[in-house]
Amino acid sequence: MTTGAARGAPVVDIRGAVKRFADLTVLDHCSLTAQEGEILTLLGPSGCGKTTLLRCIAGFLTPDAGEILIDGQDTIPIPVNRRSVGVVFQSYALFPHLTVARNVAYGLRMRGMAASEIDKRVATALATVSLTGFEARYPSQLSGGQQQRVAIARVLVLEPRVLLLDEPFNALDAKLRGTMQMELRQLIKRLGITAIFVTHDQEEALTMSDRIAVMRAGKIEQLGTPEEIFDRPRSAYVADFVGASN
Ligand code: ADP
Repeated sequence: MTTGAARGAPVVDIRGAVKRFADLTVLDHCSLTAQEGEILTLLGPSGCGKTTLLRCIAGFLTPDAGEILIDGQDTIPIPVNRRSVGVVFQSYALFPHLTVARNVAYGLRMRGMAASEIDKRVATALATVSLTGFEARYPSQLSGGQQQRVAIARVLVLEPRVLLLDEPFNALDAKLRGTMQMELRQLIKRLGITAIFVTHDQEEALTMSDRIAVMRAGKIEQLGTPEEIFDRPRSAYVADFVGASN
């Protein structure tokens, strides 16, 4: 494995994570560090363990061995709802019977926050994704891109330390994907948030990432800037994968 030059403080530090499902070892002593404010992409073919790693960071899965630290603190004993991690999934999973404002407010209500504070935070989150004025609409009255922006606002409103994105543009058509990639990258950079982004799409990785970790069979095969990965692949596997068209 090669490691790209360290730049910021480590925010997410994965040390030798192992995850097995019955006989199948999906994460095989996987180590990786995401630095303050960077967009780090997990790139690799279907089945290499990207989503499993993301789920371990989020706390939906517990590794069988290894450590996952956030800001130097071991996360394994921390329950999912207490981790300062927000997850945006492939499917937006908005509540169809709730308005945009109620969808975005949902997590804050669950935390028992005062209504006046919730209103303020929801307004800020919707402004962040350029959806001011859409508070009273229902998900079915929004375009795919707008629905995905609500899903992003719903996570940002919780002010997570780390944003995890699991192929968030899969449901969008090619043109909208491009727009949303640029929008989301700008937004993450503006907020200075640390993000880990999962994709199997080389071009998406190139557009979105500060650094790319190419995964192979539950390990990081190469870690580097997009230029390093695309121009100086360290193995035939990386060269084949980033050279392959979709
Ligand atoms: P990727 O996101 O890179 O496509 P995944 O992390 O989703 O890969 O899956 C890696 C491997 O682990 C696949 O072979 C998948 O079938 C298997 N896997 C994932 N989740 C489970 C599970 N809950 N039970 C059994 N096998 C699983």
